[in-house]
Amino acid sequence: MRLDKLLANMGYGSRKEVKQLVKKGAVTIDGKTAKHASIHADPKHQEIIVLGEALIYEEYVYFMMNKPKGILSATKDNFQKTVIDLLSMRDRSRSPFPVGRLDKNTEGLLLLTNDGTFAHRITSPKKEVPKVYEARLNLPISEEDILAFEKGVVLDDGYQTKTASLHPLDSNNKIVSVTITEGKYHQVKRMFRARGKKVVALKRTHIGPLELDPALPKGGYRKLRKEEIALFF
Ligand code: URA
Repeated sequence: MRLDKLLANMGYGSRKEVKQLVKKGAVTIDGKTAKHASIHADPKHQEIIVLGEALIYEEYVYFMMNKPKGILSATKDNFQKTVIDLLSMRDRSRSPFPVGRLDKNTEGLLLLTNDGTFAHRITSPKKEVPKVYEARLNLPISEEDILAFEKGVVLDDGYQTKTASLHPLDSNNKIVSVTITEGKYHQVKRMFRARGKKVVALKRTHIGPLELDPALPKGGYRKLRKEEIALFF
């Protein structure tokens, strides 16, 4: 790969900015100062040092975010803030995208990556990766609601959802945990609507075996650890 492309991909700035870095003599490859940004660089087999720091090449990036309410899970929007706007410039430059979507007013666990295979493993309907949500409702759930979720709820468009599990988290039966293995549009809200209930607040807490890191503040994010990425491969 061209050195300028590599450095820009790794978040060292725009192509123009990394050209300046190289021109300044800030980049060495296997101990020799790189003279031109257009030269070939192979981060897997060469030691590349940028501003005195060894470049650790990562082909892909994987982040876990605690998405706040009011932010779109999209890469770009002309009018509204997206989850990409919450990333640092450097992380943004790796072109991550959200893995699946959370509604604007839903908060909680959102993964971002630029690895299409990883995203596919999580979002493909065939994989049936369970997603756990905590929902606050306007009315308490009943035994019948639990059974209906287990059987599959018929949504407003006639689609019958796959089996879902529902259980209360509080003594009033208004804060509940819901596990679904699909990702239909507004699915959780529509499942409750089909049961005559309204979701007042919704938060995703788990995707498969991965739990939202409780240390992440709203709007905060961190890299996934190697073992967390491996959970999906
Ligand atoms: N179900 C919903 O209704 N909204 C979400 O954001 C996710 C699941």
